[in-house]
Amino acid sequence: MSQRRLFVTTALPYANGNFHIGHIMEYIQADIWVRFQRMQGHAVNFVGADDAHGAPIMIAAEKAGKTPQQFVADIAAGRKPYLDGFHISFDNWHSTDAPENHQLAQQIYRDLKKAGLISTKTIEQFFDAEKNMFLPDRFIKGQCPKCGAKDQYGDNCEVCGAVYAPTDLINPYSALSGATPVLKSSEHFFFRLSDPRCVEFLEQWTQDGKLQPEVANKVKEWFSVRDNADGTQSEGLGDWDISRDAPYFGIEIPDAPGKYFYVWLDAPVGYLASLKNLLDKRGEDYAAYMADPALEQYHFIGKDIVTFHTLFWPAMLHFSGRKTPDNVFVHGFLTVNNGEKMSKSRGTGLDPLKYLSLGMNPEWLRYYLAAKLNARNEDIDFNADDFMARVNSDLVGKYINIASRAAGFIAKRFAGRLGEISADGDALLSVLRDQSDTITQLYEFREFAKALREVMLLADRVNAYVDQNKPWELAKKEGMDTRLQDVCTVCIEAFRLLTIYLKPVLPALGAQVENFLKTAPLGFADAAVLLGSGHLIGDYAHLMQRVDIKQLDALFEPPAQAEQAPTAIESIAPGGEEMAPVITIDDFSKIDLRIARIVNCEAVEGSTKLLRLTLDVGEATLRNVFSGIASAYKPEDLIGKHTVMVANLAPRKMKFGISEGMVLAASHANEKAQPGIFVLEPLPGAQPGMRVR
Ligand SMILES: [Zn+2]
Repeated sequence: MSQRRLFVTTALPYANGNFHIGHIMEYIQADIWVRFQRMQGHAVNFVGADDAHGAPIMIAAEKAGKTPQQFVADIAAGRKPYLDGFHISFDNWHSTDAPENHQLAQQIYRDLKKAGLISTKTIEQFFDAEKNMFLPDRFIKGQCPKCGAKDQYGDNCEVCGAVYAPTDLINPYSALSGATPVLKSSEHFFFRLSDPRCVEFLEQWTQDGKLQPEVANKVKEWFSVRDNADGTQSEGLGDWDISRDAPYFGIEIPDAPGKYFYVWLDAPVGYLASLKNLLDKRGEDYAAYMADPALEQYHFIGKDIVTFHTLFWPAMLHFSGRKTPDNVFVHGFLTVNNGEKMSKSRGTGLDPLKYLSLGMNPEWLRYYLAAKLNARNEDIDFNADDFMARVNSDLVGKYINIASRAAGFIAKRFAGRLGEISADGDALLSVLRDQSDTITQLYEFREFAKALREVMLLADRVNAYVDQNKPWELAKKEGMDTRLQDVCTVCIEAFRLLTIYLKPVLPALGAQVENFLKTAPLGFADAAVLLGSGHLIGDYAHLMQRVDIKQLDALFEPPAQAEQAPTAIESIAPGGEEMAPVITIDDFSKIDLRIARIVNCEAVEGSTKLLRLTLDVGEATLRNVFSGIASAYKPEDLIGKHTVMVANLAPRKMKFGISEGMVLAASHANEKAQPGIFVLEPLPGAQPGMRVR
């Protein structure tokens, strides 16, 4: 087989935060594929980079009191523990703010312009005169033009779901300065995707069968002009706005002072920049490498960024005279524990660094994710019970056990030497070797779950052979030494074959096994041969622990509880506090509790804790009450509901107005340990003004 040359990337993470488990899943998926290709003897360059540009990073850096460059560098400095920790074998990690990317992005733009695919258009946009900048949609807030809800973003209303332009907002304000934005016109640059040449090229590129069928079908919807079922018409491929005005953290557009590339223009160029940086460091020629017609280029991405990678990116490359990707491999999202929404009380999902810090084996996670991943873009779920079962019963119980059952006898009874294999053992090993092609194909097409299933079926056969021959009984019988060595040799040879098949998923374990078996690094070609009689193996040291349920409990324990163990009082007192001293019924009757209907509820400007409630307590006038429940309820959740209020509490003057009573709500004494505030609601039928006694 001839050696393939592959250039492989993962999506570039936005450099405004640490990696989460979704990033790690993508890197593990790509890394398994890359390691598989390397084990086939192919030459792979596997690169990543930080996506450094754009308004959100510029604004976050300003808040943090850093330059955007420093902000991004600090995030980048934190990448290594994740990548090393989960055995991700990138050849290079770079940044889209690096000189290579500035130069490549500008050159691609010049080439697109030369091809007649760049146009300009003057558009009107909201401008923050205080910050002296055009505002991205997410940084404009105001009242929803449809339902009137306050503090809604410039692109859609989170209350009623309406989608609109920022210019439709009532009383718009800048989320950066609070200033009222003004409309200002500006010239923007567009990549003319609507050009017939682009449409024709993309129809061909996306529909020629290379993309996953579900991805190709989705993409098709975007560039066809067609009538929708709801009577509207899809417009087809529109031109793409690729410019942003200064101040912007990004790459300057050539010959256009004050104009920068929109971050999504230069982000994928970062793949090439990282590769160029790698090749430059090695003294290799980037241009020659990319010019090789046999070079294969693949991008692993999540299903949320398909547009950028199947429309904009191939068109940018093609019309600038560059090589287009051979394929884009799209995966789904990862949910944790049956897709439960991550909440404070249940912890913050699966934190990759916490996983490592608890001493959990990174290869457990690699194995578990591989056992769930296939070639489609389906979502997959991390389930703690399933994780423990698969690692403990499959990985350790079926695979690791084979070595541990045989290695001791080879060491003690045969001085570490493998022996001759008889016909039944040979037959078993042939079955294992014959699966090499099938497993190879499954890895090639990213059907990792199916590949691991095949490997575990083979492990089952080996374990059946062990149970049939019972080496522990052979060891006690006179004159059975040759058979004992035979059976144990079959086990060790079988274990080596299974290790080859699992090594893309379990690289560190693979290296341990190579050390134990005293063999050179294993590739798939090594499945065709055996170690052979007389081969000397090393001492067996236990290769992998089982998952301890305590580790999983600790992994999903909410951070607050992990930091602060409950005191004796908290652990025995209901709701975290001891009962108040006894009172008489007369004491209680002094408190006038009434049913109140929440006529209106709204956020309090300048306070993140308070909601302003307008209550009907059956009196001639309504009451105004401030309540510290904004963390638990949105105003619209409460409007129209009934609750219980303390109606004879002396009015209190607060910063935001006078509060004429108090609404009853339940909470735990230690809100960090048990978050949540719960407003009381009477059973149906209670009317405003009724006394609660
Ligand atoms: Zn609305």
